[in-house]
Amino acid sequence: MKAFWDPVQQRHAPKFFLQRGQIRPNLEIPARAEALLQAARKLKLDIVSPGTAERSAFETVHSPAYLDFLRDMPSLWANQPDHGPEAVANIHPSPEMFGNGARLPTGIIGQIGWYTADTSCPIGPHTYTAAAAAASCALAAADEVAAGRHAYALCRPPGHHAYPARAGGHCYLNNAALAAQRLRDAGADRVAVLDLDSHHGNGTQSVFWSRADVLYVSIHGDPNNYYPWYVGHAHERGGGRGFGCNLNLPLARGADDTDWLEALDHAMAAIRSFGTDALVVSLGFDASVFEPLQFLAVSSDAFARAGAIIAAGRFKSAIVQEGGYATDQIGELLRCFLSAF
Ligand SMILES: [Zn+2]
Repeated sequence: MKAFWDPVQQRHAPKFFLQRGQIRPNLEIPARAEALLQAARKLKLDIVSPGTAERSAFETVHSPAYLDFLRDMPSLWANQPDHGPEAVANIHPSPEMFGNGARLPTGIIGQIGWYTADTSCPIGPHTYTAAAAAASCALAAADEVAAGRHAYALCRPPGHHAYPARAGGHCYLNNAALAAQRLRDAGADRVAVLDLDSHHGNGTQSVFWSRADVLYVSIHGDPNNYYPWYVGHAHERGGGRGFGCNLNLPLARGADDTDWLEALDHAMAAIRSFGTDALVVSLGFDASVFEPLQFLAVSSDAFARAGAIIAAGRFKSAIVQEGGYATDQIGELLRCFLSAF
């Protein structure tokens, strides 16, 4: 099986992370990818750098103005007086502002708030290059699946919190959504995205919200007490023609292997009954019991069982890396999952 990876991804090394009113070191660090890469080597995966895709490939999900923003912001930021090392917003437009005709400002402080959902997506000089390289890995994995082979995309930064025109939660370009769209464009009639990251993939849900051709299924911590806080509830079933093509399976804090695997059985049943032609797995490891900001309590063994359960569905699968911040454990979790898969 091929694993797609580009060393350029490591040039994104965010520092800023705001947690409970304190500035702490960002957890989405290059060492994560090093750990996963080492595991991929041990598994004897065929590690390939696909090169960066054409910009038009990113525009299948993301708006041109947003892509320009990510690309151009670092040099604009560098011209700000007394600026920090990374562009981080200190304001976001509120629903009331949108209700009163809010528009994208010309000033860059307002633009950063417009194009980011939170403070967890600092934009540095190499963020766009790295995110584009990560997204290209997901696209390459989708091409493998379209050719009839499973593939793993070692995406860093991750993607599932990114909207078509908004970054958030360590994510800038939505790797899994790009892969799913690529599979649709390659002729798969029905694509499912199975999101195992412990956070709800609000970006991916939004991309496909009104679509009947892509099923989004997510198993994650209850958003009442966990990022992304406002969405990820069971009642969110999709809109318009997409109604019924969105399935959220939130779990309470401390949910264990039994709860998580039961939700996975439920998810796989939905994916089978959707008539899925190709599968994208948003594989986060932050449901693990080892996670530094732990919410769920899933063991390494359960990640192996998940790999086997998904493989039993016999869908050609693009496995796209999402979160997981226990840097000393995620390599082993990848090994457990992919060995069983
Ligand atoms: Zn996550």
